[in-house]
Amino acid sequence: MIKPDGVQRGLIGEIVSRFEERGLKMVGSKLIQIDEDLANEHYAEHADKDFFDELVGFITSGPAFAMVWQGADATRQVRSMVGKTDPAESAPGTIRGDLGLDLERNVIHASDHEDPGSNEREIQLFFEETELLEYSRIDESWLYTDED
Ligand code: GDP
Repeated sequence: MIKPDGVQRGLIGEIVSRFEERGLKMVGSKLIQIDEDLANEHYAEHADKDFFDELVGFITSGPAFAMVWQGADATRQVRSMVGKTDPAESAPGTIRGDLGLDLERNVIHASDHEDPGSNEREIQLFFEETELLEYSRIDESWLYTDED
């Protein structure tokens, strides 16, 4: 999900391009205004942190762009492209390392590949089933070997 700072800075196209070019397939996306209830649920694991109110305030401060991407090991691939939580520790070439400077305003959220089920949980939080499409990309046979 591209956070409100990324949307305001006109980075939707840049970020979508990175995932598309990597070979991942977009199966759903939408611009959303996250309300406080949804933000509380999304960030429930951080409810006891001292930055929680700031976090909820920021993620509800303007439109965000939610996306669902599919592909081999997509959650891990996306996390590696996103970089570390703090842009200052994110390698150049990653989204946060190239496009962010601030720990809170770090441009993008991505499901945690080390927390099994976080991707499914977050998809259900933000999308109806009918908003997710099944289709093939024409380059799939060039992206994956038969063994995969
Ligand atoms: P992520 O999975 O890499 O996004 O990181 P976390 O799940 O640990 O944290 C969620 C979000 O909280 C991060 O993306 C940051 O935007 C924000 N965050 C993390 N640590 C801090 C902090 O110390 N202060 C503030 N203001 N925000 C933080």
